[in-house]
Amino acid sequence: MEEEKKAERRDAAAATVAVVFTFVRDCRRAAATPGRRRQRLETIDVNDEAMSDGGPRLTVTKCRALAVILFFVGCVMAVGLSVYFLARPHYPTANSCSTAPSKRQPLSQSFLGAGALSQLVQNVTRLPRTVLPRHYDVRLLPILEKGNFTVLGRVSIDVQCLQSTDRIVLHSSDIKVDLKSVQVIERGANKTLSIERIDYETVAEFLVIRLNVGQQQGKVNLTKGSNYTVSMNFVANLTETSAGFFRSVYMEDGVERYMAVSQMEPTDARRVFPCFDEPNMKAIFTVTLGRHRDMMALSNMPLINTTQIDGMDDFYWDHFAPSLLMSTYLVAFAVANFTKIEADVAHGKWKFNIYVRTSAISQAQYAKVIGPKTQAFYEDYFQVPFPLPKQDLMAIPSAFVGAMENWGLLTFGESVLLYDEDVSSLDDRQTVVELVTHELAHQWFGNLVTMDWWTELWLKEGFTSYVECLGADFVDPSLERLQQFVTSGLQAVMRLDALESSHPISVLVNHPDEIGELFDDISYKKGAAITRMLASFIGDKSFRDGLTNYLRIHQYGNAVQDDLWNAFDKQAKVDQVFLPTKVETIMDAWTAKMGFPVITVQRDYKNRNISVTQKRFLIRKSNSSTADTTVYLWWVPLTYTTDFQTIGSTWLADNQTSKNLTLEFEVEDNQWIIFNVDETGYYRVNYDAHNWKLIGQQLMTNHTAISVINRAQIMNDALNLARAGLLDYETPLNLTEYLEREEEFLPWESTLTALSYLNSMMQRTPGYGLLKNYVMKILMPLYNSLGFVHKSTDSHLTGKLRRKVVERCCFMGHKDCVTKAIESYSQWMADPGNTTIVPSVLKGVVACTAIRHGGELEWNFAFKRFRQSNVASEKATLLSSLTCTQESWILARLLEMCLNPAVGFRTQDALDVIKTLAENPIGRFMTFNFVRDKWTEMTKIFNSIHSLAHVFESVTKSFNTDMELKELSDFVGKNKELLVNAMTRSTQQSIDRVRSNVSWMRLNYRQVVNWLQQNNPATSQ
Ligand SMILES: [Zn+2]
Repeated sequence: MEEEKKAERRDAAAATVAVVFTFVRDCRRAAATPGRRRQRLETIDVNDEAMSDGGPRLTVTKCRALAVILFFVGCVMAVGLSVYFLARPHYPTANSCSTAPSKRQPLSQSFLGAGALSQLVQNVTRLPRTVLPRHYDVRLLPILEKGNFTVLGRVSIDVQCLQSTDRIVLHSSDIKVDLKSVQVIERGANKTLSIERIDYETVAEFLVIRLNVGQQQGKVNLTKGSNYTVSMNFVANLTETSAGFFRSVYMEDGVERYMAVSQMEPTDARRVFPCFDEPNMKAIFTVTLGRHRDMMALSNMPLINTTQIDGMDDFYWDHFAPSLLMSTYLVAFAVANFTKIEADVAHGKWKFNIYVRTSAISQAQYAKVIGPKTQAFYEDYFQVPFPLPKQDLMAIPSAFVGAMENWGLLTFGESVLLYDEDVSSLDDRQTVVELVTHELAHQWFGNLVTMDWWTELWLKEGFTSYVECLGADFVDPSLERLQQFVTSGLQAVMRLDALESSHPISVLVNHPDEIGELFDDISYKKGAAITRMLASFIGDKSFRDGLTNYLRIHQYGNAVQDDLWNAFDKQAKVDQVFLPTKVETIMDAWTAKMGFPVITVQRDYKNRNISVTQKRFLIRKSNSSTADTTVYLWWVPLTYTTDFQTIGSTWLADNQTSKNLTLEFEVEDNQWIIFNVDETGYYRVNYDAHNWKLIGQQLMTNHTAISVINRAQIMNDALNLARAGLLDYETPLNLTEYLEREEEFLPWESTLTALSYLNSMMQRTPGYGLLKNYVMKILMPLYNSLGFVHKSTDSHLTGKLRRKVVERCCFMGHKDCVTKAIESYSQWMADPGNTTIVPSVLKGVVACTAIRHGGELEWNFAFKRFRQSNVASEKATLLSSLTCTQESWILARLLEMCLNPAVGFRTQDALDVIKTLAENPIGRFMTFNFVRDKWTEMTKIFNSIHSLAHVFESVTKSFNTDMELKELSDFVGKNKELLVNAMTRSTQQSIDRVRSNVSWMRLNYRQVVNWLQQNNPATSQ
């Protein structure tokens, strides 16, 4: 109690200087390079008297003057100290990474010119394992006041010394530590240790507390086996971007409101409180949050009691129960004026609540229903109970996209948690299910058992992305989520993984910048695709029981991928599942090598032999790819069928490029054979010309003899094989003719996605008219049978299919479609409050079509509705429709609006607009020119490597001429610091993509046009 009182007095002192820090920080932020968060000005802390107890008591006006002086002095010192820190030998770290380096590639290996940063930081960014945290007492008071968004904090960490040392090294970044408050106490002996000095290691984001070493050489102050408490006061930022503890600003009832909420993953807990910010340094967290009387506070654990803050009227401390053992990236805090909605949970084992701003209560009903059902499903599926007494789901109004799995306090952007049946679309409902089932699956996979280090990020993300499909199929079977994974997950990531500049699932990472780059489709979707493949070849029972064993053995701890493989291996043996080798051996190539194979099936019809070969599938092979010495061969689980009744299986080993198969059944010469049944394997399949012909004949006579997923697979494989030059374009284009009879969502989704490449390549060529005519011809039967109007009896996938067909027909200018869209938009304009005129599922296509064929009036209406809407997902739909205009001046105005803060676009909105505009044939060049001209300004505004990489990718992805490639290279050359050194991989991928487009045009354009001419509905009639 005594210690707490002292701390509170220190907090009050810190509050008086907070204004200074805000001012200094704002200056610093303006100067910072995006994505490379630096901490230079913090180095002034070493001699900064202002943080000391009883330091100068400043008034606000004096603060401003002093802040300016501090800023300039700080800048000078920062440069000097940064040079000092960078130049001297770096602090040695214990090698605690338990993964075998030989299996991994450093992320920088595939980089363009290997970033200097990667090399510099590889050995300096892991904490030494000399002391480990056991318990944190974290106390934070976020100040939610305009002009003074700060967090006053105190942390007290109980550590255990594992190896004698003279220093404690922990993470801290963008935090102003009150250096005079730092204390190290030996517990038990109750002895305060003397501190020699405290330093910041800027690049590594370390705070190093060196203790006084005695006269005797070799004497150390922290002794192996002893326990210590290190404590300090600090002021942290309440940032505007969703990193660390941040503020979300939103309007409610016409009033601007603020809330504070945290986002720690992957490495931002160190921005909120000094801590040991590595996933395998698990500890118990006891949290206390300060708040105003009108607000509520939430954390991972339930509230136990509330006390008034001494000397602050109307402010209270909320004290939360101690957590279970967990990683820093899962710690969560929130302070908001929200409404709680309690879900009905009959069993009483845990409570389940949704927290939203008051005016969005009605939109939380869907999450309230599916949330607790999903959590109960996972308890049953994993056979491990949810260990916390409560689960809170919180919808963050702004400054936050996606969702985060903080243990016991999940955070979501509003558009992915809230759902309004009248206004949101079918896709919005699916998104809510996907995100809720994903974050809840993490409560076991990631939270209870955590990856040992970020290198194995995929271990939680990939597995969860697969398991979420099981959760979704349980909680809302109509979505057919697992089936949809084939197109939205597996086929989607294959597009990225077919590039030479892809990266393996498992990569060696060290620095936060490298860790951040891992959150991509490879970790999530490829991770899920190979998990689905594993589940398929070991069988559902072994998969499920193996998971349960893994979770039980490693709960409250950390694991590496081999732990998981071993669990499956053991279970497969128990269940007598035949495997050609150990699970670990099979799976290693899939995680350690980038890419995937194409299996070529060659039939010898005379002798009834079948041979299969494997080779890495590349959409384009560059001439300069000789440096990579990896042998691209995999253990491939092959499955095949000739009737979808009997399924045969065999393996290709990772040292076999080809093999003659002995099939488990006879195949007649005139009978097709299809490999990769239901596309459970992560590979593409090519056949000899005759087998392709046999498959084509089957599709034309009775396509339902082939499973829905395999129809999707065949179309997607064939079109991509042709794109990669492994198959004549005639084959896939001939196959598309069967689509006139196809009524299922999946094959259409798969084909239209693959065809959209042809669309984007040909859109500005004379041959586009032929392509348009042909696509309309195959779409027409479906358009006519489904109709324009949504029916309440439609299944989820039929609704999605209609939307897709209508979208494509309207986009290609189909008269009936365009007329109907314009009609319903004008009715809506005449009666804006009526939500029934345009069904939510078609709102996007109706608005986009009316705006494309309309003028300023139509555009202004959508913009007005966008600003007025209270439903985040509807806002996103309308925002996207604003980019459909064909009026160049409106497009130019919209681009300018993105960078103009007065317009009030959220950062994410502006990014989305720029990305979507790049897909508009008219807006495309304009957007690239805009991005090129305003790049420097954009880097300051968007301030995130991830976001800028997406913009860069979007604006360049349909470039396909030598001139465009040159423009792109020139742009990269002029902006090397960011595009080459920081956004290395995404820049390389964009360049690869454009090169591939240029070569596609040279090799295939004429061939496709010839085929279309021969099959042109206008000429062939
Ligand atoms: Zn996740």
